[in-house]
Amino acid sequence: MLPSHPIVVAVAGFASHFVIDAIPHWDYPLQAISVRKNADNRLLKADRRLWMDLLTIATDASTGFAVAILLFYPSAPIWVIALGAAAGMLPDPLQFVHSLYKREPLVTLQRFHVWIHTKRKLNWQIGIVSQAAFAALVAATALVAKQ
Ligand SMILES: [Zn+2]
Repeated sequence: MLPSHPIVVAVAGFASHFVIDAIPHWDYPLQAISVRKNADNRLLKADRRLWMDLLTIATDASTGFAVAILLFYPSAPIWVIALGAAAGMLPDPLQFVHSLYKREPLVTLQRFHVWIHTKRKLNWQIGIVSQAAFAALVAATALVAKQ
């Protein structure tokens, strides 16, 4: 909506993470990394479980970037789309950073993130399918509204 204002794009992307986290959703399970309220990842070992988590997260993030670019290019430059997508993803890696360094402003951000995150978790086996269908519906609605 505002490709010529990258700071607004970044702030809106960052803020949108929390709005979306407030909606009941399915979170894919991580085996080694924890981002729970009082998680401590300082003793993580570079084992298979950690590599699988990193692969899962990398796949998720890459898919997010690809879908964002497919949806918004050429309405905005790719770097602005990537900035918005990265800002929208940033709160979750900041939870990981908080688990390593429990300092401000990460402590306050983590408290807010845990508070706003829905307490209703969907444990459906079809979680990823239902969320992909919902995302496609939202994207289709946005594309129709844009015309
Ligand atoms: Zn989150």
